[in-house]
Amino acid sequence: MVRIGVLGLQGAIREHIRSVEARGAEGIVIKHKEQLEEVDGLILPGGESTTMRRLIDKYDFLKPLIDFGKQGKPIFGTCAGLILLADEIVGKDNAHLRLMDMKVERNAFGRQRESFEAELEIKGVAKDFEAVFIRAPYVVEVGPEVEVIATYKDKIVAAKQGHYLCSAFHPELTDDHRLTGYFIEMVEKANQTVTQGS
Ligand code: GLN
Repeated sequence: MVRIGVLGLQGAIREHIRSVEARGAEGIVIKHKEQLEEVDGLILPGGESTTMRRLIDKYDFLKPLIDFGKQGKPIFGTCAGLILLADEIVGKDNAHLRLMDMKVERNAFGRQRESFEAELEIKGVAKDFEAVFIRAPYVVEVGPEVEVIATYKDKIVAAKQGHYLCSAFHPELTDDHRLTGYFIEMVEKANQTVTQGS
């Protein structure tokens, strides 16, 4: 059984654990950087990216998180987590982990659309995924290595780059665990590659 960590500093942590468990994997709340060694993949939850970054710095998580990704271990960023993964953020000089080659805009759907639900097609995952958006960002530009897997009104709302996955919406708030399941499969595949290679 693969072990999936959920960064446990702030945001929708328990909901992701519930979703991971519903898909038959083990979910572990990561509160200390040393715990990263215990997991095969990591979810960066939704919440507030600026607060999360403050806590990442406070608990000395920045480099360990970047190293985790650079070792080839899968990371799934949802909403604020997507912002943490991006290489560039509109209107900001410094991005955070910079692991995905994309530019994102925060709170991009505007004030009047603070939160909403929409049915999306997610390539390779579902044709009818009920996506919950809460003060959601979207992706404004992607590099050549990034595969767009979902759009909403022509805006990029989910993407994949090798072992990195991101969504602008919250896939953990409903009982539809297909996107979480897709991530768990990515983690299982990455694990097999490591085992075969050694
Ligand atoms: N607007 C938030 C941010 O900028 C993200 C919202 C969310 O994660 N639901 O971090």
